[in-house]
Amino acid sequence: MNVADSNRLARALESLGLTAAPEAEGADLIVLNTCVVRQSAEDRALGRLNSLRPLKLANPNLIIGLMGCLIGIHGNRALEKRFPWVDIFAAPSDPEPFLRALEGRIQHADAEAWRERVDDVLDSAFGLPPLEAHAVSENLPIVLGCSHACTYCVIPSKRGKERSRDPEKILQEARSLVAGGAKELVLLGQIVDRFGLDLEGGYHLPQLLADLSEIPDLLRLRFLTSHPNWMTPELIDSVAALPKVMPHIEVPLQAGDDEILKMMRRGYTNSQYRELIAQIRERVPGVSIGTDIIVGFPGESEVAFQNTYETLADLKLDVAHLARYSPRPGTYSARYLPDDVPPEEKMRRFRALEDLQKEVVGSLNAAFLGQNVPVLFEGKSKKRWRGRTPTNRLVFVEAEQNLLGQERSVRVTWTGPWSLLGELAG
Ligand code: SAH
Repeated sequence: MNVADSNRLARALESLGLTAAPEAEGADLIVLNTCVVRQSAEDRALGRLNSLRPLKLANPNLIIGLMGCLIGIHGNRALEKRFPWVDIFAAPSDPEPFLRALEGRIQHADAEAWRERVDDVLDSAFGLPPLEAHAVSENLPIVLGCSHACTYCVIPSKRGKERSRDPEKILQEARSLVAGGAKELVLLGQIVDRFGLDLEGGYHLPQLLADLSEIPDLLRLRFLTSHPNWMTPELIDSVAALPKVMPHIEVPLQAGDDEILKMMRRGYTNSQYRELIAQIRERVPGVSIGTDIIVGFPGESEVAFQNTYETLADLKLDVAHLARYSPRPGTYSARYLPDDVPPEEKMRRFRALEDLQKEVVGSLNAAFLGQNVPVLFEGKSKKRWRGRTPTNRLVFVEAEQNLLGQERSVRVTWTGPWSLLGELAG
């Protein structure tokens, strides 16, 4: 979501006539986008911000902007006091206030003209210029904010309440991204499977996937992240039925223990989650499933942790994003539940799951050895082209010709837990 927010602002700035500087040193404008989902992310953001200060001291004309969850949607007076040398403070996911605040700061001939250009940019499908060259795979936010209030999570208070974006705007933006060269769109939302539930008219994610599938030059669609409780049979069936929707579903478990799940206020039990995974696998052949896990939530005993471990060992999911619990100011868990799993123990549990997943994913990937898979190429790393399979596995291929944006059949020649190697087939 932050990558999407950053790109959106960058494109808006480019269409206003600014050009990207090769590095922070020497830039006229620096915008730092921030994440605070865990303390480590917040620390990194503050560290980076402090490292910009000497640049500001050396060049008083430098404009420094700070955006994202460090600020939150309601502004942040304390931060403004603490960092008086930052010029612009901006909320997540909305480029408008930022662009308006630039007025009169950027050296330009005519304030009136700037205002009009900002209006134009904001009119053009949420700040995206139509002719910009886009990446092969582009993120497209469809649900902003979140209203679920998991007890550990700071996002709802930082990104505001859940708002589905207007379907017409999304379709328009999708067409413009594809016209600019995108081949894959990744639809984003904190609970993306709730798309449309807050809108009139019963237009939900399956309908949006069907309508987006009609865009001729679009090859692939993905969506993340789903909450188990809104992963309807209808949505699962549309993943199975629509050829452009990739067989890959991100549906976080967070913890495998029912008591912990209750304390997290996730709204499902271990057995309900297992049942959902079984249903997805039954309806979508060859599907890959990703999950998020938090270890060391308050009160997580060794037995509770084993429930998570065993669930992952049984389910053999294709991806697990692992995190150690980090108390976030203002959340229910930070206020009421003592952070009682010691850091070394959190680390031990994290490593245990990491080792488990390495085995699981290693053997799932090994099944691809010698097979032909369709790979959409997204870029080049050194001499090798980098692409993804329908199930989102990373593949590297050595080839002389330009493969960017092409979907080609690749024969897999080597597999490891985190990537595959292959050669163009035929
Ligand atoms: N809205 C999505 C993703 C949220 S952020 C969802 O509900 O899944 C991505 C992940 O960060 C979460 O899934 C969770 O695993 C992790 N996370 C959120 N708050 C956290 C916290 N306080 N400590 C550790 N990990 C956290």
